[in-house]
Amino acid sequence: MKKTAITIALLLASYKVFAKTKTTMKTLTNIKPNQKLRECDPLGCGHFGANRGYYPNGKRRYHQGVDVLTTKGEPIKSPISGKVVRESHPYSSDLAWTGLLIENDIYAVKMWYLLPTIEIGSYVNDGDVIGISQDVSEKHGSAMQTHVHVEVRKNGVLIDPAPLF
Ligand SMILES: [Zn+2]
Repeated sequence: MKKTAITIALLLASYKVFAKTKTTMKTLTNIKPNQKLRECDPLGCGHFGANRGYYPNGKRRYHQGVDVLTTKGEPIKSPISGKVVRESHPYSSDLAWTGLLIENDIYAVKMWYLLPTIEIGSYVNDGDVIGISQDVSEKHGSAMQTHVHVEVRKNGVLIDPAPLF
């Protein structure tokens, strides 16, 4: 009887460790229900590291984040808890396309093609709605799937966020 109780206690303890490990691996909260990443369409692929041609200086350009498929006007949530540091713009020559930079002690998350619905300087919890999706195909053509770009730096280093969702 005593042995059984000890075994159960040990099992519970190891499950707690397992559950904790599991949750810490998935450190980013999905930015929408049933989140799916853009695969490849005629205008490019949505995964981290996808080819994006060249910079004006001739250097190879790679996709620095992942693209989450969205529909125009859809509410978008924050993948982390942190401070809304500033707006972020994908195109310096076309400020109609907007986004946000959100930071905490570990992560910095840049998101593009969303209209912010929160104040710059405010603090958000992961899962809070921070904006609504724009439709980037209005800029690049209907062949491009509508998406929100999510770019993540961990301790200042650019990473592939896909495994963290
Ligand atoms: Zn992107």
